[in-house]
Amino acid sequence: MQTFQSQAQVDFTETLSRHKIELSRETLDTLQINLGKLCNLTCSHCHVNAGPKRKEIMTESTVYKILDWFTKHPTKIVDLTGGAPEMNPHFRTLVDGLISLNSEVKIIDRCNLVILNEPGYEWVGEFLASRNLEVVASMPCYTEDNVNAQRGNGVFDRSISALQELNQLGFGLDDPRHPLHLVYNPGGAWLPPEQSKLEQDYKRELKKHFDISFDRLYALTNLPVSRFASYLRRNGEYDEYMELLVNAFNPSTVNGLMCRNTLSVDWTGQIYDCDFNQMLRLHIKDGTEKLSLWGITPEDLAERAIQTAQHCFGCTAGCGSSCGGTLA
Ligand code: SF4
Ligand code: SF4
Repeated sequence: MQTFQSQAQVDFTETLSRHKIELSRETLDTLQINLGKLCNLTCSHCHVNAGPKRKEIMTESTVYKILDWFTKHPTKIVDLTGGAPEMNPHFRTLVDGLISLNSEVKIIDRCNLVILNEPGYEWVGEFLASRNLEVVASMPCYTEDNVNAQRGNGVFDRSISALQELNQLGFGLDDPRHPLHLVYNPGGAWLPPEQSKLEQDYKRELKKHFDISFDRLYALTNLPVSRFASYLRRNGEYDEYMELLVNAFNPSTVNGLMCRNTLSVDWTGQIYDCDFNQMLRLHIKDGTEKLSLWGITPEDLAERAIQTAQHCFGCTAGCGSSCGGTLA
């Protein structure tokens, strides 16, 4: 007799086995550091549940422990995220420390744009430019209604003004010293449209209406984690969204999953296979001990199994999704 299994219950590991795919860590090339949950916005899709009242932010002593680890184990890329990473009072210490240890390191700032015109943060644009950081900026649409619906009233205008400032500082003009990439994510329970086509639409509309340029667009899928998972449950859409993700499983995305070569570090220094696992408290452990960055070496991580669960279907649906956009 055939048994019915809801797609929302399909197991990610079993799906990989059925496709004869193994998912394990490879050489570490990116350290993704979450500087805390403090943010000046409270976006509806936020997988961090970040906001202005959150108190979890990385301390100066943790910043120095990370720098100490980086002295011994420099990675090619350091990806700074949050919350709004720039709101951490030790953001500049961390950036300057990383550069002093390895002048070749690529540092990414995951920026919500409006921080550039928040009172007290007027230094942000100049600082990012003077240190040659790569700016990856949230901009979920090129229309005002969609951006404000997801991120709050007035956010669209403030984002436009921040993008114009970044252009004036030399970002987004096809200069490898000042890359500016934008991030799209859907406003609800659907998959993103085709990335390259959407990038053309963004470029045309932002140029025409606001004289704004940028380099690349990353189209991300919303993972059913944290605030977005609550939103789905509130609207009775959770199971339907999981079905969409499971049915869209694309085996060719697995090779590019960011958990293969990225290590996620939380505001206390504990480590995870990715930022989503961090929010779900799926720690990298040694037995029962939760590991911190300073408890491992990149060699310890190589070939370790990656902890997966249902939310991983968000990374493998359709064209796939990662912090650097689509995968297939
Ligand atoms: S999505 Fe980004 S900008 Fe929005 S609340 Fe979360 S961390 Fe802040
Ligand atoms: S959520 Fe995505 S990046 Fe994280 S472990 Fe799952 S597949 Fe990998």
